[in-house]
Amino acid sequence: MKFTKYPLLAAALATLATLPACTETKSAAGTEAAAATAEIAADSAETANTPTAGNATAASLNNGSPATIPAGKRADAATIIARPQVPILCYHQIRDWTAKDSKGAKDYIIPVAQFKAQMQMLADSGYHAILPDQLYAYLTTGAPLPSKPVMLTFDDTDLDQFTVARPTLEKHGFKAVYFIMTVSLGRPRYMSKAQVKQLSDEGNVIGSHTWDHHNVKKYQGQDWVTQIEKPTKQLEEITGKKVNYFAYPFGLWNQEAIPELKKRGMDAAFILAEKRDQQDPLYTIRRIIASGYWSPRTLHNSMVQSF
Ligand SMILES: [Zn+2]
Repeated sequence: MKFTKYPLLAAALATLATLPACTETKSAAGTEAAAATAEIAADSAETANTPTAGNATAASLNNGSPATIPAGKRADAATIIARPQVPILCYHQIRDWTAKDSKGAKDYIIPVAQFKAQMQMLADSGYHAILPDQLYAYLTTGAPLPSKPVMLTFDDTDLDQFTVARPTLEKHGFKAVYFIMTVSLGRPRYMSKAQVKQLSDEGNVIGSHTWDHHNVKKYQGQDWVTQIEKPTKQLEEITGKKVNYFAYPFGLWNQEAIPELKKRGMDAAFILAEKRDQQDPLYTIRRIIASGYWSPRTLHNSMVQSF
């Protein structure tokens, strides 16, 4: 691989080998947390009213692929914003902490037992893990969701998402979304193409998370091809399915990015806990990072407060 075109890449990859890719954005995460807090008041009034479908089966609800919903049948931005938000959790590394892990990194590294306890809490509390097509249908048409919906998302292609998270989710019957950074495929401590294909075949959703995790706000010209077009095409070749969903590296986005994502086939995009865009809420769907410090109870409190 040539690094000359991307002088920061060599350094970035060296960092990726030991740290979660999102650690660099600690300050941004702090800002997002503040923005999220401000938004709690606005959104908390809505949370009691999430429409649910009671005993409807996952299969009967999982028919909301964006392609099946005519543009004319999709709600406008104000309607989408007004719907109660579904809690969406974002995970990175799932492994026990080591002496080398910094205080900040531990927000992005969840110890195995802690992860299992969080998933157990969701199962015991009656949560149903939904997938992006269900969320899309709910947001755009008001389609019903299972009771207590939650969405589980995993960023950055870390191998432990396959070796640790996957069996835990399977135990509870949870499906999830994996946002893949394609530069890492097949590298040590990252998932292989075959593993990504297996996750997809098993009913999970594979989303795009750029080629090498560069900040979307800095893209110019050819960057859209390098970071979005080519990696998305690669993921479609690996899975044999269209990729409809994107997660912004570090959760960082700007309005210029949205038409670029639309042009490249994305139907929705995911940020972190900052405020949604009023014109394009589907391209600024909020998630919270489930911190390695959070007990199941803290996670539950955060879900209730943030969404
Ligand atoms: Zn990431």
